[in-house]
Amino acid sequence: MVGDVTDRLYYRDSSVLSFEGTIVECGEHEGRWYTILDRSAFYPTSGGQQHDLGRLGDVDIVDVVEGEDAAVRHISNKPVGDVGDTVSGEIDHERRRRHQQQHTAQHILSQALVRLWGFDTLSVHLGEDYGTIEFAAAEITAEQLELVESFCNDVITRNLPVTISFVEDADLADVGLRRPTARTGKIRVVSVGDIDVSACGGTHCSATGEVALLKITGIEKIRGHAVVRFLSGDQAITDYRSRFAATSRLTRMLTCHVDDLPAKIEHLLADIKALRNQISDLSRELLPTWAGEIAARAFQEGSHTIVAEVLDLQDNRLAVKLAGVVADRVQGVVLFIHEGRLLMSVPEAGDLDAGLLARKLGERLGLKGGGSKRRAQLGGAASDKLPEYVKVVTRLLDEM
Ligand SMILES: [Zn+2]
Repeated sequence: MVGDVTDRLYYRDSSVLSFEGTIVECGEHEGRWYTILDRSAFYPTSGGQQHDLGRLGDVDIVDVVEGEDAAVRHISNKPVGDVGDTVSGEIDHERRRRHQQQHTAQHILSQALVRLWGFDTLSVHLGEDYGTIEFAAAEITAEQLELVESFCNDVITRNLPVTISFVEDADLADVGLRRPTARTGKIRVVSVGDIDVSACGGTHCSATGEVALLKITGIEKIRGHAVVRFLSGDQAITDYRSRFAATSRLTRMLTCHVDDLPAKIEHLLADIKALRNQISDLSRELLPTWAGEIAARAFQEGSHTIVAEVLDLQDNRLAVKLAGVVADRVQGVVLFIHEGRLLMSVPEAGDLDAGLLARKLGERLGLKGGGSKRRAQLGGAASDKLPEYVKVVTRLLDEM
């Protein structure tokens, strides 16, 4: 594919980060500007890899796309220059480095899966935060992935050279590609030592040691295929840093070794559950006392007995139960605000209907919810609006 409109410098050497090129075409592109050069080191989004960022002259390049004419279009928010101008290009080093690490890691990981377990790569996505590979496998076990990860990190440690060569499609049979290619003509072949040979147009490290580290971070099933998520190079190091900070904080808080964290936290969660149950038991015992105290604060609105309180019980079921007990005790309407909800209850005996009352109240105030004859709930209630709720409920009771 060499000899396109744009001479792609990264094709032969991914380490070229500064270059000079001459503008052969430029113009507007969907409200922005595009520039085509006779030669460029900028990588356009393709083959599952993201585009480079950087500058042409003093203009920031915000996107790089590959047109159907195979020319590399550098997209910017203002014009770079005129046709015939020579401009200097500068690639964003860190971003390119991450892409190289990720792409090289992907070749090694794809090779490991096919070599150790016979699973071919179906598709690849290399994202800003992590990479994923879809494999021709319904399932890959944790044990299989552990061996794969070890294989990959061994290849990285051996610091094997990553080389680029160009092979005529007719001669590809001798090369032994991991995955056949549909491309014709002169094919770009990327070799990772004697481990992996692939037809690929992406940017890679010049030796596997630059990948530094490969960590498999997850596996999921999409379209019936196993999709493996991985981190490599700078991404993996950033991830390790944040995980180390988090676990260090936890080991200090819980005064234990990092290996003991899961057991310690399981223990704490069991304790919390037991304490919650104890609180529930104690609260049930205290319920009649609370109901008595709250009932004593009942007040009259015309001919209606009303109880209106803001509660904080940490247990909605208990609050609902309490509302029922109080309603029976005062033979009136109970309104509780609890955890952002308006709980309503009416006496067991009598004609009042809490569900109906809640529906009408909801319609007037734009709150959502409902309930039974005995009790109802409305979401989105605010404590400071309780006096307003009381007023509307009183009016509704007068109308009924
Ligand atoms: Zn590649």
